[in-house]
Amino acid sequence: MLIAPIITSRIEESGPGVRMSQALSCPRQIAYSASAFPITNRPNARRMRTLAHGTAIHGFLRAEIAAGLWQGVEPVDVPTRDEDEVELTYETQGTIITGHPDGVVDVTQGGEIHRAVLEVKSTNGFGFRMRKAEGPSPEHVAQGSMYARQLGLEWVFVVYYNKDQDNVMCFLEALDTDLVLRAMNGWRDALDAAQQMEGGKLEWDDDRLPDRAYQPDNKGTLPWQCGYCRYVSGCWEGAELIGSEDKPKYRSVEHR
Ligand code: SF4
Repeated sequence: MLIAPIITSRIEESGPGVRMSQALSCPRQIAYSASAFPITNRPNARRMRTLAHGTAIHGFLRAEIAAGLWQGVEPVDVPTRDEDEVELTYETQGTIITGHPDGVVDVTQGGEIHRAVLEVKSTNGFGFRMRKAEGPSPEHVAQGSMYARQLGLEWVFVVYYNKDQDNVMCFLEALDTDLVLRAMNGWRDALDAAQQMEGGKLEWDDDRLPDRAYQPDNKGTLPWQCGYCRYVSGCWEGAELIGSEDKPKYRSVEHR
């Protein structure tokens, strides 16, 4: 009785609004979340557990780093309580984009010390192997680079936590200005569309909205990213659930 409302309120807090964690994500999703477009698909219990698990893992990893337990990583400012997190903001199109870096650390690499923004992400084994093969995802480097720019730092320290194996993998990346610009351009287009939607100049399914980042496959099945999108039934009107409630997967009606 007590826990469910707390978890729900956390999910609601991460509801409509514009956040730096959306850097390089689906532009249409950003437009929906920045406008008054209603959430059509609330997170299910499994999704809420995943989010709660990620929050808990963040807490553990940050506490380890703050305690100086990671070799070659010295804490400079690593908050271990959510209320101590620093809020950073960007403004574009009259809208404030907010975000909370996971901390600032000094990372020793190649005999040199680099002061970097700490960005912690948790993932499953498959995602972890992908990051091992391909390096950190551009979305995460973009988000960390935005924080670094605001803090006057030049480095981003991305930590991936493997939920299947409980191990971590770290990448020290230089601030990537190109990714920051790409993210800002995406926000600009999405926020412009959101303002037009709110002003009644654009309908929620208007072709002039920013492109969807994803498309159905040749059977009409939408990718997993859409399955976890809180606007999927509005974006793909009448999309039908073909996976379980626990592992949502949708099919676009045009492909029935
Ligand atoms: S359903 Fe998919 S394409 Fe549509 S807004 Fe969400 S993530 Fe983007």
